[in-house]
Amino acid sequence: MSVVIEARDVTFAFGQTPALRGATISVDTGEIVAIMGPSGSGKSTLLHCLAGILVPDSGEILFDGARVDAMDESRRSSLRRDRFGFVFQFGQLVPELTAVENVALPLLLGGVHRRQALPKASAWFARLGLDGLEQRRSGELSGGQAQRVALARGLVAEPQVLFADEPTGALDSLTGEQVMDLLVSAAREQGTTVVLVTHEARIAAYADREVMVRDGRVNAPERIAS
Ligand code: ADP
Repeated sequence: MSVVIEARDVTFAFGQTPALRGATISVDTGEIVAIMGPSGSGKSTLLHCLAGILVPDSGEILFDGARVDAMDESRRSSLRRDRFGFVFQFGQLVPELTAVENVALPLLLGGVHRRQALPKASAWFARLGLDGLEQRRSGELSGGQAQRVALARGLVAEPQVLFADEPTGALDSLTGEQVMDLLVSAAREQGTTVVLVTHEARIAAYADREVMVRDGRVNAPERIAS
């Protein structure tokens, strides 16, 4: 297995508040890794550093062997747009757009024409059990439906890495498990690597591997027996 993304001894502070104190993690291509740990331990900060949203104060972030931490904002922004997908706790759909336009957004931003982007986005609706909801706006979707739309948007451009920050955190447990089932099967089908932040053991259990973040550091990884 080849490593696709890694953090090496990364530190990051919000002003005087240290969030990461030397975090190291490495994720293989196609692997689904759950980053676990108590609230405030640094999970989201680690995900944001890996995804090129935050730049570490020290240490290195490598994606496909390239130093993400050394890239300027415009290169990191292109990397996020072209190679990464994102799903956040609250789907964060654009309320003015229809569901299918929301899913197509990463393609449209990547320069794909509407004529190609919309059919490609539509194909995800059947796949995720969202048939007939293409023209709804986010206010007309249930929480689980909106999060499945957000998942389709995260995967539509076939990213190399999908970053998911508490993607089921706002859902009831049954709906959350349905979203995780879909996330894992879609990622496996596409060969997408997934970095998932969660504080829930039952959600982390969907991953190939769990790592624990405590106090801004990553503890020894635990392999899940399969
Ligand atoms: P987790 O995702 O594990 O809950 P975070 O990465 O969000 O943890 O936070 C790690 C630490 O950084 C915490 O002490 C938190 O209070 C602090 N922190 C996170 N985001 C900010 C911010 N925007 N401004 C100031 N402090 C922050």
